[in-house]
Amino acid sequence: MTVLREHGPNEVAGAGRRDRIVARFLTSAPTLHECPPEQLPEVAIVGRSNAGKSSVLNQLTRNRQLARTSKTPGRTQLLNFFDTSLGGRLVDLPGYGYARVAKTQKHVWENHVEEYLARREQLVATVLVMDIRRPFEPFDVMMIEWTLRSRLPMHVLLNKADKLKHGAQQETLRAARRRLSDARFTVQLFSAQTGLGRDEAIETLTRWLTPALSRASEATPAESSA
Ligand code: GDP
Repeated sequence: MTVLREHGPNEVAGAGRRDRIVARFLTSAPTLHECPPEQLPEVAIVGRSNAGKSSVLNQLTRNRQLARTSKTPGRTQLLNFFDTSLGGRLVDLPGYGYARVAKTQKHVWENHVEEYLARREQLVATVLVMDIRRPFEPFDVMMIEWTLRSRLPMHVLLNKADKLKHGAQQETLRAARRRLSDARFTVQLFSAQTGLGRDEAIETLTRWLTPALSRASEATPAESSA
């Protein structure tokens, strides 16, 4: 297993505070059984097609190549694994629920992604990317209901916040927090375009993906900041 360093050429790493997560594509897996075997914490990132999941990954890692990897023909229906400099892995899961692509991707979900979510021991948390202008679409609600049945925390990014004025952003954020009042959920504003909310998202991911921190939060139930 290769260890990713934060301080490489062209890589920015602030003293004490990260302003990006260094990540590199590891592998794709079509099914749970083909997922990498290492016992490293994994955070799965999900979102309806077009919610901006790829752009969010780009913004958090400042690596355009990364999310493009997941969009390579043949990979869009796979679980895509990325090593990170934090130690744990980001797993980009296929989304569905937009326009015409729904049927095959729904099939993939029902057969493989649900199995990954239900059985993957390394999975410590999920991140749900929603379009702030159209939150809580059926796909999002399905993921939220799954989270309520599981023991895992979920961090929700209300992405494309730049599309709304400040007042409307705050109102949507308050409404989403009211709706996701269970202690497992945290919700924030995000803009993959402007970088709004990046520090907060990176902080959450750092807590989950750093193996020692991740184990500690298992022992102590996470506090709600919703
Ligand atoms: P994915 O299908 O969920 O991976 O979505 P993409 O990352 O491909 O984004 C879908 C579209 O939304 C693209 O045209 C992006 O440029 C746009 N987009 C993504 N995030 C943002 C954002 O925060 N603000 C704005 N204005 N556009 C965004």
